[in-house]
Amino acid sequence: MAAKFILAFDQGTTSSRTIVFDHAGAIVAVAQREFRQIYPQPGWVEHDAAEIWFSQLETAREAMRKAGLTPADVAAIGITNQRETTVVWDRTTGDPIHNAIVWQCRRTTETCEAIKADGLEETFHQKTGLVVDAYFSGTKIKWILDHVDGARERAARGELCYGTIDSWLLYKLTGNHATDYSNASRTMLFNIHSLQWDPELLTALDIPAEGLPGVHPTSHVFGETTLLGGSIPVASVVGDQQGALFGQAAFEAGASKNTYGTGCFLLMNTGTEPVASSKGLLTTIGWGLEGQVTYALEGGVFVGGAVIQWLRDELQLIANAAESEAIAGTIPDAGGVYIVPAFVGLGAPYWDMRARGVITGLTRGAGRAHLVRAALESIAYQSADVLRTMVQETGRSIPVLRVDGGACANNFLLQHQADVLGIPVERGQTLETTALGAAFLAGLATGFWTSTSAIADTWKLDRCFEPRWSEDQRQQALSGWADAVNRSRS
Ligand code: ADP
Repeated sequence: MAAKFILAFDQGTTSSRTIVFDHAGAIVAVAQREFRQIYPQPGWVEHDAAEIWFSQLETAREAMRKAGLTPADVAAIGITNQRETTVVWDRTTGDPIHNAIVWQCRRTTETCEAIKADGLEETFHQKTGLVVDAYFSGTKIKWILDHVDGARERAARGELCYGTIDSWLLYKLTGNHATDYSNASRTMLFNIHSLQWDPELLTALDIPAEGLPGVHPTSHVFGETTLLGGSIPVASVVGDQQGALFGQAAFEAGASKNTYGTGCFLLMNTGTEPVASSKGLLTTIGWGLEGQVTYALEGGVFVGGAVIQWLRDELQLIANAAESEAIAGTIPDAGGVYIVPAFVGLGAPYWDMRARGVITGLTRGAGRAHLVRAALESIAYQSADVLRTMVQETGRSIPVLRVDGGACANNFLLQHQADVLGIPVERGQTLETTALGAAFLAGLATGFWTSTSAIADTWKLDRCFEPRWSEDQRQQALSGWADAVNRSRS
């Protein structure tokens, strides 16, 4: 009997999960384990890489048990992972030489300042598509090599492996040291044009090339694992946001998705050519598939769903996030009230780290419902700012926006998003798009799915939000928002 299922390993920032998908892309079983967040000092964040590995393996076993699967039932494993988080381990023993340094960790800020002071920022930007920031893996690898006794010498002798979480899991599963284009493009060491580790960047960060993983297409048989009771191919590796773009079947240039979580992550497929941004968007590799690389533009909203947590925890205006939808619906509009939740500055296209939050347009009649509504609207306006920048920089229009993430349960938010963008917003039936993307990519590498069009057919609409505003209404709302943003700027 041919194998009927794909296992997606979804290794996230706070938990490891395994999801079993069937051929229709439907979820058959889920298992999840949380693991420790380690905060050695303010601004520093670490994970225990061994704990990540064991939690992932346990969820795989549990998900197979729940679904009643034997290894013969599993066509392939796909991996999607928290991006940029960095592990360095001993090539022979497989033991990490330091805790994993998490993407959020700011400990390498000074290294990044030094790179800028040396005038190398533009070189990094041009080659990697990224801005120089502690977020990305390169300076994290350097930090571990600089701070663990003997690490630099061992690295030069080829005794260490370094990589992102996907590489760590792959190594544990298969014994191979590898990664894919989507993850490599987040290291600040990978040339996204030549598709190779860049010697000049490695020299700038003093990182010996010996420990780097081999880079492969995203949909590719990376090896086999026997740890689940029989031999199963590991057939995809994809960074979480790129996985979500793939899981949304965003296969054509211009196809875009927004993930509404604590922050928002917007990605637009830009086709086979990378588009450089001058407004602080990141150019990244979406995936490598069938001998070709697909590029994407990426932009973030720092405070997305977090503004709803702020309403709940700080202002105590709502009891829970879901309640915000009904409250916003009790009034016909926000009455001219805008909230700009620039709590930690503003991202693209403003990049103003000193901007701070403001509430504008308050009148005596403004009350709880106006504030709740304005907070939800702010998520849509900020996302619209990023999408508009993508349209400007690519010269492509976005026909429709596909959405996922916890806050996309909110119908009011999605309707407002459609209204301010003037395009339809589509919510699919599967909200686990990240894991689904990894499953699709693994299925394509193993013949479980035969083409992207076969995959696109499995994408099922839950609800489409059509734009309702006239162009005048849209411009008026956007100019009120622009005015509020101006007042928040430093
Ligand atoms: P993350 O992956 O970043 O932890 P999730 O995708 O789980 O985030 O989404 C959680 C975020 O979504 C929280 O910030 C929460 O305030 C927000 N949220 C959840 N449900 C709703 C809702 N119904 N309306 C508005 N915001 C919501």
